[in-house]
Order: sequence, then structure tokens, then C-alpha cells
Amino acid sequence: MRLIRPILNLYEQLRRLPGVGSKSALRLAYHIIDMPAEDVRALADAIITAKERARYCSMCYNFTDSEKCEICANPARDQSTICVVEQPQDAAAMERSMSYTGFYHVLHGSLSPLDGVGPNDLRIKELLQRLDGVTEIILATNSDVEGEATAVYLAQLLKPMGLKVSRIAHGLPVGGDLEYADEITLSRALENRREM
Ligand code: ZN
Repeated sequence: MRLIRPILNLYEQLRRLPGVGSKSALRLAYHIIDMPAEDVRALADAIITAKERARYCSMCYNFTDSEKCEICANPARDQSTICVVEQPQDAAAMERSMSYTGFYHVLHGSLSPLDGVGPNDLRIKELLQRLDGVTEIILATNSDVEGEATAVYLAQLLKPMGLKVSRIAHGLPVGGDLEYADEITLSRALENRREM
């Protein structure tokens, strides 16, 4: 059975989202059409507003709706430590573990030569520009091949600058995303970090 054009359009847009396969996209499309009109409008508004208002923090490149994010603007945070993560959701996971009080830096990806992602595609330059007063860098990239390669690259870059560079311990599942680790695992991974 062929989908009518408006439903097909919606289905195709949804299918482009990460983690949404053809079946889920179709189910979501039908679900949205069955929703009350005001709920659909609220959903569409939320998407547009988030896209318009969310921007990068000028220091850590996490998402914020002002110039600096809440963490970078908080004078109580330990300014001598920066925890480097791949994605905003990884910083959020670290925050949930409540065992870290320093700053973050979000790379927005990991080194992946096969996908054409090199150092200039990540926020590495921006990290190097904010090292005044920083004594330790904790590399909390994921434990997959790309995350490890990124950690090694950064360690080689940062250690000659006299910084203590450590890597979080991977009691984390190999290949696992930080984002999905529970609070206790993350808290231990941080505690057992080893110097690179
Ligand atoms: Zn920030």
C-alpha cells in the first residue's frame, strides 16, 4: 500500500533521525497524525525553538541558551581541571555521577580517518586556547577505537605542555558510550583514572 504524499514526507523526515528505522518512522508518523492538533503544534514548536535558542557555550562548546553554560559560569567549579568528552550527552552523564567538580570540553565527535574526521573537525583548537590555570586534563572519550585514538592524540598534544593528562578507567564496557554508563560505573571510572 502506498503512503499518501504528506505522510510519506513525514515518514522520510523521521527516518533520517539516528536510531529510527523504517518501522519506527512509520509508527511515529501514524502516531503524530493521530495526535490532537495542539499537541502536534507544541512538538513542532519545541523542535524549532530548541534549534533557534540552543547554541554552543563559548568556553566548553556544550549547548547553552546564553553565552556561557551553567557549569562554565559557576565560580564554585574547580577551574584547574578539564574533562574532555565527545558529546554534550557525555558531559551530562558525568554530571549525573556527581563525582566531578571541574570543567568540561566537548569535542563534538572523535577522530575517525575512515569517515574523514580529522583534528580540525573537532573542537581541539578551542581546547588549546583555554588552558590558562589548568593543571589536569581528564580524557573521557568513549572506549571504542575512535575514542581511544582521540585520547592518544590529545595526550601527545597536551603532555609536552606540562599538563597532567589522565584517561578514565574503563570498567566501562568496551566500545561502550559514556552516555549509557550508570552513575556508579562512571564515578569509579573517574576515580580510577590513570595517567597517560
Ligand atoms: Zn560551558
